[in-house]
Formats: sequence, C-alpha cells, structure tokens
Amino acid sequence: MPINNLYSILFKDIKNYNNTIFEIPNKKEISYNDLEKIINNIYINLMNKKVVPGDRICVQTNKCIEVIALYLACLKIGAVYIPLNSDYSLNELEYFIEDSKPKLFIMDKQNKYINNVSLNEITKLTLLKELTIYNKKYSENQIKTKVFNANNHDIAAILYTSGTTGKPKGAVLSHKNLSSNCLSLKKIWEFSSKDTLLHALPVYHVHGLFVAINCSILSGSKIIFLPKFEIETVIEYIPKATVMMGVPTFYNRLIEKKNLDKNLCKNMRVFISGSAPLTRETWNIFHRKTGHKILERYGMTETGMISSNPYLTEQRKAESVGWPLPDVKVRISEEKYNLKDNIGEIEVRGPNVFNGYWNRENKKDDFTNDDFFKTGDLGKIDKEGRIYIVGRQKDLIITGGLNVYPKEVEDRLNEINEIKESAVVGIPNKDFGETVIAIVVLEKNQNLEPEEIQNIITDKLAKFKVPKKYFFLNELPRNIMGKIQKNILRNKYKNMK
Ligand code: AMP
Repeated sequence: MPINNLYSILFKDIKNYNNTIFEIPNKKEISYNDLEKIINNIYINLMNKKVVPGDRICVQTNKCIEVIALYLACLKIGAVYIPLNSDYSLNELEYFIEDSKPKLFIMDKQNKYINNVSLNEITKLTLLKELTIYNKKYSENQIKTKVFNANNHDIAAILYTSGTTGKPKGAVLSHKNLSSNCLSLKKIWEFSSKDTLLHALPVYHVHGLFVAINCSILSGSKIIFLPKFEIETVIEYIPKATVMMGVPTFYNRLIEKKNLDKNLCKNMRVFISGSAPLTRETWNIFHRKTGHKILERYGMTETGMISSNPYLTEQRKAESVGWPLPDVKVRISEEKYNLKDNIGEIEVRGPNVFNGYWNRENKKDDFTNDDFFKTGDLGKIDKEGRIYIVGRQKDLIITGGLNVYPKEVEDRLNEINEIKESAVVGIPNKDFGETVIAIVVLEKNQNLEPEEIQNIITDKLAKFKVPKKYFFLNELPRNIMGKIQKNILRNKYKNMK
C-alpha cells in the first residue's frame, strides 16, 4: 500500500469493515464495507472517464454519503478534489471552472445548473449518481482499483476560500497537509473506534470534511450523518453520540433549548467548536446546563487546524483557542498592532500549512521569508503559550490613528443584559479615517435606546473606542459556518453620518 496517500492512511487501521460508518435518520446504516464498495464503483467509473492523477474534479452537490465516497475515490485515484458550496451561483461556478480547469464537474440531478449549456461547454457535467453505479463491463476484473502512489507534495484537494474581498482563492492542500492534521487531531482528541460523531456540518468546508470525516475514518468511528443542523434532530441524536463538532451558532441554538441538560449529554465525551469565535457567555451557559466545557479549536482552510484547547477538561479555557498542535509553530508577527497587549498577526508554519494558492505563483504576500503563513488573524499568546484571537486584520478599525479591536468593544456590549449580540465595524470618516459604529441585536422583548447603551459603555471603554452610532437588527448576517459577514454590514452602513 502506498504510504503517503491520505487514503491509505485513513483506512490503515480499520479493524472491522463490518462496523457501521454512517447512520442516517430513517435510512439503512452503511458499513465500512459498503462504503468501500461505493468508493470502488466511483473509482472505476472515474477511470472509465479517463481521469488520471492530478486531474481536478469540481463538485457541487447536496450533503450525501456518495459525495464522501467521491472525495475518497479521488484521493485513491490521485485526482484533486474541489468541493464547492451548494449556494454558489452560475457566475461563480464559471469562475471556479475557469480557474481550476477540471476534467469533470459533478452535480446531483436536482442541481439547477445541470443542463446549463455554458457550463457544459467549458467542462463535462457528470451526475454523482451515475458515478456510483456498478459498471459490469469495467468491473474490478478489468480495471483494478489501486491506491495512487502519492508523494508528500501531491495535491489531494483545492478548497476555495470564502473570499470576502476579491475573488475566492483556491488553497492547494497536499496529502501530507491533510494527513498530518488528522493524525494529530486523532491523538490529541483521543478519537477511537468506540466513538460516534454527531455530524451536522456542511461537507464542502474544511471543518465538516477534513476535521470531522478524516478524523472519524482514521479512527474507525461511526458518524451520525445529518443533512444539516436542525435543532430537534440534533437534540434527538445527542444521547447516541460521543463527540459533536460544531460552529458557535450550533451551541448558541442548543443553549436555548429547555431539554439540553446533563442527562441528555451523559454519553458525550467532548463537544468541539470552531470556525468562528465562541463567546464566553455561551461557553459558560453550556457548561452550567450540561457539565461540559466546550473544547474550542482554531483553524482555517489554508492550514487545517492550527491550535486546540487541551483534551484534559480542567485545562480548557473559554475564549482561548488553546495551544498549537504537535509539529505546528505559531507566533505573533514582529510588527505589533498594540504593544501593550502584544497583539499582532498570527503566523503559522508546519506540515499542515498549504503551499500556496492555485494559479498564483507569487507567494510573497502570503508567507514570511522564513516560510510562516500570514493568517490575517490578529491575536496574542499568553505566558502559558495559549493563543487568543482578537479578530481579523481587515476588521481592525483605525480611527484618528488609534487602533480599535472590534472584539473588545463587542465583548463590552454583549455584557449588557438586554443585548443578545453585536458587531462593531468601521465606516469611512473624513476627519478620523474611520468611525466606530455598532450593530446590535437585542434579546427578545427587550428595549434599549442608543443613549442608554452609550451611558453604560462610556464607563467601560476609552473614548475613541466607544461607538459613535448604534443600529439595531433582528439578526446579524452570517455565513453557513457562523461567521458574521462584516463586509455586508460595512457596506450597508457606509454612508451613515
Ligand atoms: P475558514 O477558512 O472558512 O475555515 O475560516 C478561517 C477563519 O475562521 C480563521 O482565519 C479565523 O478568522 C476564523 N476562526 C476559525 N476558528 C476560530 C475560532 N475558534 N475562534 C475565532 N475565529 C476562528
């Protein structure tokens, strides 16, 4: 078996192929054996379509077992898997096809672009279902499925970043990047074949695909595979699971449920959160209701997971994203944004870090001279070596030459009882460069005037940090991973005086 291909690494220690890998509500369970058969059918059909190692395969489908099998078949054959968000529009799909030049574009039958001529002209659209069919003519007697002999740098996947500024960029991830990351996570989170993971995340993103699926297969675990996060179904399945991975939105919704308690979570080993900041308040309420301290970790598309709180419950902390993973080096840039707190850009180097963006030769802007990736996140590291994220560099507000970290202001606002959540952004201002404004969501049936907020907050923050205007919304715009879309807010309020 080739040892560097992620596929061989994932399946190396599966002891019992009769064990279940996927449990899906109201459907037949899928064993590791069943999954292997689907993978091999897809492999043979891909071979039949002349897919060779290095070919890009773009994929836009619903969340289903077959698409996971497709991902694994691509690894096995050495093709480059490119999952795309199911919400992408035709224009965006055309861009991805143009940028990645895939051999195949795979969709479900229901995809509204399936018969689109313009897409068909660029590349060959293929139905996912068609790929899973057992092909007698090309059955294993004629085409043997064998694992592609990948080297460390061979590309396993390209994941396009969400690209809030400019066009999305394809992060090129090697077999080594992905395997090193899941091997570390399995170890530090103590994953085993006794585990059942509750999976309600999308599978076109690093979190739901590489963290959740790779970790589970590597450990021979079972996955409760939910099509999406639907609160009642999640509550129903919590008692059957030992691990849950989620974004903060999941936890914010869970704490609102009356039946979330210690008894419901008694079989759960660990609740993991990432992809967006988890507030101390949510962490505390969750702890009080369930007895569990949510384990927060930090990562991104370009790097996989970077750091994690420790598995040891007593050592977990709210608001920190923990320590770097084994073999991963994290530092704060020399250029500091705030000397007192030692805040700077988080830089990272390690076997998990990608090698650059697809079709972009120049790596200078993204990496330092000594090969650390510049994450674009602002943070600090405390005396114990724990990492704290303060926000995105591009969200930093500079008003009258002074730096305002939105998170600091948001934390103070969120402490006000009537406020459910808030987002602080900078909008253009002739005199100061930028002005601080706050967009506030109030708790249900609460009322609060801007002046009242101002009175409370003025005592807690230096004057230049205090928002000059308050706007009220029923909810903040978020993407599917729970990240607040500050670019939308900046745009919406940019002309407010
Ligand atoms: P993505 O590439 O979509 O996974 O987004 C990565 C970005 O999400 C990071 O650069 C951070 O800004 C943010 N992020 C991920 N995990 C956390 C976390 N635990 N706390 C705060 N921000 C996070």
